[in-house]
Amino acid sequence: MREKILVVEDEPRVARLVTEVLKAVDFQAITAGNGDAAIEMVALEQPDLLLLDIMLGSGMDGIEVCRRLREFSDVPVIMLTAKAKNEDILRGFDAGADDYLTKPFNAKELLARVRAVLKRTRRPEETVTSVWKCGELEINFARRTIRARGQLVSLTHTEYSLLRELAVNAERVMLQQELLSKVWGPEYLDDVDYLRAYIRYLRRKIEPDPSNPRYILTSSGVGYMLTCPEQE
Ligand code: CA
Repeated sequence: MREKILVVEDEPRVARLVTEVLKAVDFQAITAGNGDAAIEMVALEQPDLLLLDIMLGSGMDGIEVCRRLREFSDVPVIMLTAKAKNEDILRGFDAGADDYLTKPFNAKELLARVRAVLKRTRRPEETVTSVWKCGELEINFARRTIRARGQLVSLTHTEYSLLRELAVNAERVMLQQELLSKVWGPEYLDDVDYLRAYIRYLRRKIEPDPSNPRYILTSSGVGYMLTCPEQE
Protein backbone atom coordinates (compact mmCIF):
# COMPACT_ATOMS: atom_id res chain seq x y z
CA MET A 1 0.00 0.00 0.00
CA ARG A 2 1.30 3.43 -0.91
CA GLU A 3 1.96 5.64 2.07
CA LYS A 4 0.11 8.94 2.21
CA ILE A 5 2.08 12.05 3.14
CA LEU A 6 0.50 15.37 4.08
CA VAL A 7 2.61 18.40 3.15
CA VAL A 8 1.75 21.47 5.22
CA GLU A 9 3.23 24.55 3.61
CA ASP A 10 1.85 28.03 2.87
CA GLU A 11 4.05 28.67 -0.17
CA PRO A 12 2.46 26.90 -3.15
CA ARG A 13 5.75 26.70 -5.04
CA VAL A 14 7.49 24.84 -2.23
CA ALA A 15 4.47 22.62 -1.62
CA ARG A 16 4.40 21.67 -5.31
CA LEU A 17 8.12 20.88 -5.36
CA VAL A 18 7.89 18.66 -2.30
CA THR A 19 4.82 16.77 -3.54
CA GLU A 20 6.49 16.18 -6.91
CA VAL A 21 9.52 14.66 -5.18
CA LEU A 22 7.27 12.38 -3.12
CA LYS A 23 5.07 11.31 -6.02
CA ALA A 24 8.12 10.54 -8.17
CA VAL A 25 8.99 7.70 -5.78
CA ASP A 26 5.41 6.52 -5.50
CA PHE A 27 4.21 8.08 -2.27
CA GLN A 28 0.75 9.61 -2.24
CA ALA A 29 1.02 13.32 -1.45
CA ILE A 30 -1.68 15.72 -0.30
CA THR A 31 -1.25 19.34 0.77
CA ALA A 32 -2.65 21.83 3.25
CA GLY A 33 -1.85 25.56 3.04
CA ASN A 34 -2.47 26.47 6.67
CA GLY A 35 -2.75 24.99 10.15
CA ASP A 36 -6.53 24.68 10.32
CA ALA A 37 -6.64 22.82 7.01
CA ALA A 38 -3.80 20.57 8.19
CA ILE A 39 -5.62 19.52 11.36
CA GLU A 40 -8.81 18.84 9.40
CA MET A 41 -6.94 16.76 6.84
CA VAL A 42 -5.22 14.65 9.48
CA ALA A 43 -8.64 13.79 10.88
CA LEU A 44 -10.27 13.12 7.48
CA GLU A 45 -7.45 11.63 5.43
CA GLN A 46 -5.46 9.76 8.10
CA PRO A 47 -2.05 10.38 6.49
CA ASP A 48 0.91 8.15 7.38
CA LEU A 49 3.24 11.10 7.93
CA LEU A 50 3.25 14.91 8.02
CA LEU A 51 5.85 17.25 6.60
CA LEU A 52 5.04 20.33 8.62
CA ASP A 53 6.60 23.72 7.92
CA ILE A 54 7.12 25.86 11.03
CA MET A 55 6.54 29.13 9.14
CA LEU A 56 2.95 29.07 7.88
CA GLY A 57 2.28 32.77 7.29
CA SER A 58 -0.80 34.01 9.15
CA GLY A 59 -2.62 31.86 11.70
CA MET A 60 -1.08 29.01 13.66
CA ASP A 61 2.58 28.21 13.18
CA GLY A 62 3.80 24.65 12.73
CA ILE A 63 4.67 24.21 16.41
CA GLU A 64 1.12 25.07 17.44
CA VAL A 65 -0.31 22.78 14.76
CA CYS A 66 1.81 19.94 16.07
CA ARG A 67 0.78 20.56 19.65
CA ARG A 68 -2.93 20.47 18.69
CA LEU A 69 -2.48 17.36 16.56
CA ARG A 70 -1.01 15.52 19.48
CA GLU A 71 -4.28 15.91 21.35
CA PHE A 72 -5.87 13.36 19.02
CA SER A 73 -3.25 11.80 16.75
CA ASP A 74 0.15 10.11 16.96
CA VAL A 75 0.83 10.49 13.22
CA PRO A 76 4.60 10.90 12.67
CA VAL A 77 5.57 14.54 12.11
CA ILE A 78 8.72 15.89 10.47
CA MET A 79 9.09 19.63 11.09
CA LEU A 80 10.55 21.75 8.32
CA THR A 81 12.59 24.59 9.69
CA ALA A 82 14.52 27.37 8.00
CA LYS A 83 16.82 27.77 10.97
CA ALA A 84 18.98 24.96 12.22
CA LYS A 85 18.85 26.40 15.69
CA ASN A 86 18.81 23.80 18.38
CA GLU A 87 16.18 25.65 20.40
CA ASP A 88 13.75 25.57 17.44
CA ILE A 89 14.34 21.88 16.99
CA LEU A 90 13.76 21.22 20.67
CA ARG A 91 10.60 23.38 20.63
CA GLY A 92 9.40 21.13 17.81
CA PHE A 93 10.18 17.97 19.77
CA ASP A 94 8.54 19.48 22.82
CA ALA A 95 5.36 19.94 20.75
CA GLY A 96 5.47 16.26 19.76
CA ALA A 97 7.42 16.26 16.47
CA ASP A 98 9.33 13.09 15.60
CA ASP A 99 12.09 14.63 13.52
CA TYR A 100 13.06 17.77 11.65
CA LEU A 101 14.57 18.80 8.34
CA THR A 102 16.41 22.06 7.78
CA LYS A 103 15.57 24.21 4.75
CA PRO A 104 16.89 24.34 2.11
CA PHE A 105 16.96 20.57 1.59
CA ASN A 106 17.34 18.54 -1.57
CA ALA A 107 15.17 15.68 -2.79
CA LYS A 108 17.59 13.05 -1.55
CA GLU A 109 17.69 14.44 2.00
CA LEU A 110 13.92 14.79 2.06
CA LEU A 111 13.30 11.20 0.99
CA ALA A 112 15.96 9.81 3.33
CA ARG A 113 14.33 11.55 6.29
CA VAL A 114 10.80 10.51 5.30
CA ARG A 115 11.82 6.87 4.90
CA ALA A 116 13.79 6.87 8.15
CA VAL A 117 10.84 8.22 10.13
CA LEU A 118 8.34 5.88 8.48
CA LYS A 119 10.61 2.96 9.27
CA ARG A 120 11.17 4.10 12.83
CA THR A 121 7.49 4.68 13.56
CA ARG A 122 6.03 1.67 11.74
CA ARG A 123 4.32 -0.45 14.33
CA PRO A 124 6.44 -3.49 14.90
CA GLU A 125 4.50 -6.73 15.18
CA GLU A 126 4.83 -7.76 18.78
CA THR A 127 4.58 -11.52 18.62
CA VAL A 128 4.84 -12.19 22.31
CA THR A 129 2.11 -10.84 24.51
CA SER A 130 4.20 -9.37 27.22
CA VAL A 131 3.66 -6.79 29.85
CA TRP A 132 6.21 -4.93 31.93
CA LYS A 133 4.57 -4.04 35.18
CA CYS A 134 5.89 -2.37 38.25
CA GLY A 135 3.74 -0.81 40.92
CA GLU A 136 1.50 1.69 39.19
CA LEU A 137 3.36 1.61 35.88
CA GLU A 138 2.32 -0.92 33.24
CA ILE A 139 3.62 -1.26 29.67
CA ASN A 140 1.68 -3.61 27.40
CA PHE A 141 3.85 -4.34 24.34
CA ALA A 142 1.18 -6.20 22.40
CA ARG A 143 -1.32 -3.37 22.69
CA ARG A 144 1.25 -0.58 22.78
CA THR A 145 -0.48 0.92 25.77
CA ILE A 146 0.98 2.47 28.89
CA ARG A 147 -0.81 2.91 32.15
CA ALA A 148 0.47 5.02 35.00
CA ARG A 149 -1.45 5.32 38.23
CA GLY A 150 -4.42 3.59 36.63
CA GLN A 151 -4.65 6.08 33.75
CA LEU A 152 -3.91 5.37 30.09
CA VAL A 153 -0.95 7.50 29.05
CA SER A 154 -0.71 8.71 25.47
CA LEU A 155 2.81 8.57 24.03
CA THR A 156 4.14 9.71 20.65
CA HIS A 157 5.89 7.12 18.46
CA THR A 158 9.32 8.26 19.56
CA GLU A 159 8.38 8.30 23.24
CA TYR A 160 6.97 4.78 22.95
CA SER A 161 10.04 3.46 21.11
CA LEU A 162 12.33 4.90 23.77
CA LEU A 163 10.29 3.53 26.66
CA ARG A 164 10.03 0.16 24.94
CA GLU A 165 13.80 0.01 24.48
CA LEU A 166 14.31 0.83 28.16
CA ALA A 167 11.69 -1.72 29.24
CA VAL A 168 13.08 -4.57 27.14
CA ASN A 169 16.39 -3.89 28.87
CA ALA A 170 14.96 -3.08 32.30
CA GLU A 171 17.33 -3.09 35.27
CA ARG A 172 20.31 -2.53 33.00
CA VAL A 173 21.92 0.82 32.15
CA MET A 174 21.44 1.59 28.46
CA LEU A 175 24.22 3.73 27.04
CA GLN A 176 23.19 7.06 25.50
CA GLN A 177 24.63 5.98 22.16
CA GLU A 178 22.85 2.65 22.34
CA LEU A 179 19.49 4.35 22.83
CA LEU A 180 20.12 6.97 20.14
CA SER A 181 21.11 4.30 17.67
CA LYS A 182 18.19 1.99 18.41
CA VAL A 183 15.43 4.58 18.72
CA TRP A 184 16.52 7.28 16.26
CA GLY A 185 19.03 5.51 14.03
CA PRO A 186 22.82 5.18 13.72
CA GLU A 187 23.14 8.65 12.17
CA TYR A 188 21.93 10.24 15.43
CA LEU A 189 24.73 9.09 17.73
CA ASP A 190 25.82 12.63 18.59
CA ASP A 191 22.34 13.99 19.28
CA VAL A 192 22.41 13.53 23.04
CA ASP A 193 20.17 16.63 23.40
CA TYR A 194 17.27 14.74 21.77
CA LEU A 195 17.66 11.84 24.14
CA ARG A 196 17.71 14.16 27.15
CA ALA A 197 14.59 15.95 25.90
CA TYR A 198 12.71 12.69 25.36
CA ILE A 199 13.70 11.28 28.74
CA ARG A 200 12.24 14.48 30.17
CA TYR A 201 8.96 13.98 28.24
CA LEU A 202 8.68 10.37 29.38
CA ARG A 203 9.29 11.29 32.99
CA ARG A 204 6.67 14.01 32.74
CA LYS A 205 4.17 11.39 31.59
CA ILE A 206 4.97 8.37 33.76
CA GLU A 207 6.77 9.52 36.89
CA PRO A 208 4.73 10.49 39.97
CA ASP A 209 7.31 13.24 40.58
CA PRO A 210 9.23 13.95 37.33
CA SER A 211 11.92 15.98 39.10
CA ASN A 212 12.64 13.07 41.42
CA PRO A 213 12.37 10.05 39.10
CA ARG A 214 11.83 6.54 40.47
CA TYR A 215 11.40 4.53 37.27
CA ILE A 216 13.77 6.12 34.74
CA LEU A 217 17.09 6.66 36.45
CA THR A 218 20.03 8.64 35.08
CA SER A 219 23.49 7.19 35.14
CA SER A 220 25.26 10.51 34.85
CA GLY A 221 27.07 10.98 31.55
CA VAL A 222 26.57 7.29 30.70
CA GLY A 223 22.94 6.51 30.06
CA TYR A 224 19.56 5.59 31.53
CA MET A 225 17.94 2.64 33.21
CA LEU A 226 14.33 1.64 33.70
CA THR A 227 13.97 0.11 37.11
CA CYS A 228 11.27 -1.14 39.41
CA PRO A 229 11.69 0.63 42.75
CA GLU A 230 9.24 -1.69 44.55
CA GLN A 231 11.60 -4.62 44.08
CA GLU A 232 14.30 -3.02 46.18
CA1 CA B 1 6.32 28.32 4.78
